[in-house]
Amino acid sequence: MAPAPASGYPAEFVASLPKTETHLHIEGALPWRLLHRLDPRQFPHPPKSWDPDFRFRSFAHFEEELFAVALPWFTSPERYYEAASEVFQDLAAQGVRYVETSFASGVLEFLDVPGPETAEAIHRAAPPGMEVRVFMGIHHNGYTEKSRRFVEDCVNWDQLDGIDLHGDETIPLEDWSPRVYEQVRAAGKFVKAHAGELCGPDFVRRIIAELGVTRIEHGVRSVEDPELLRELQENGIVLDVCPTSNVKLGVAPSIAEHPLRRLHDAGVRCTVNTDDPISFGNTLTGEYIALATEGGFSRAELIQLARNGFEIAMVPEKQRAAWLTLFEEVR
Ligand SMILES: [Zn+2]
Repeated sequence: MAPAPASGYPAEFVASLPKTETHLHIEGALPWRLLHRLDPRQFPHPPKSWDPDFRFRSFAHFEEELFAVALPWFTSPERYYEAASEVFQDLAAQGVRYVETSFASGVLEFLDVPGPETAEAIHRAAPPGMEVRVFMGIHHNGYTEKSRRFVEDCVNWDQLDGIDLHGDETIPLEDWSPRVYEQVRAAGKFVKAHAGELCGPDFVRRIIAELGVTRIEHGVRSVEDPELLRELQENGIVLDVCPTSNVKLGVAPSIAEHPLRRLHDAGVRCTVNTDDPISFGNTLTGEYIALATEGGFSRAELIQLARNGFEIAMVPEKQRAAWLTLFEEVR
């Protein structure tokens, strides 16, 4: 990635953009400084995967590396609070006013961290002026003998805003998912799902049909089917896109050739996000700058991408309108 200029376009412009972050795994967002402080000998410096030229060998390789750095930290709701506080402050400094973040059901399952308290801790970490929505991400085979009790119970957690479908898309989708998604929707909570990252258009279609989602995390492989692009556009399905994540996982060859260009041009509403910064070494402003310098996105296009996040935010219309007026000052 080319170094961005310290001032002028695009750095100053990107810094002035009001932003959202709606595809963020809280475990994958753990600031490195916290892990380093916890155990400086085991975590002396950021992982090699922060190198701009680094590529993961596979999704399994990515998960393995992520768990190695995330699991030592996330052992209690208080640890979620500490991490989320710093994550949100870092995002606020980048002009972010609205965040959707998820925690992994696997941490609840394997480390016995309580779900309702975790959702509450993440909410409590939101600084003044920032709205945060909290999701529980459940992997395809995450409905086990041990986890089924809390997966069924999550509809009763006041501080949980919704659920997400996480993890390796190639693992078969199980019977629990349409039923649990229906229950969560009926409880007035929000649903979204990862799709179209590792699997293609058929899986994106299936997720929309079977889980009833209008928000897809990634979804970038939808570009392989022009008919699907039309359906996404017509039905107002939103894709929460993470360019650097896609490049480092081999989903896209480069930022210059990233599918976001074709998705945006086809009228599919997309947002720009970071996914798992502890694995990718990325920042939200860095994503926008890369789209400007390497992706060929104009100021007007970057403004539209940033606006998209506010237009889909789970907030009262009055709040949305107030945020959108901020764009009048962007030049
Ligand atoms: Zn993700």
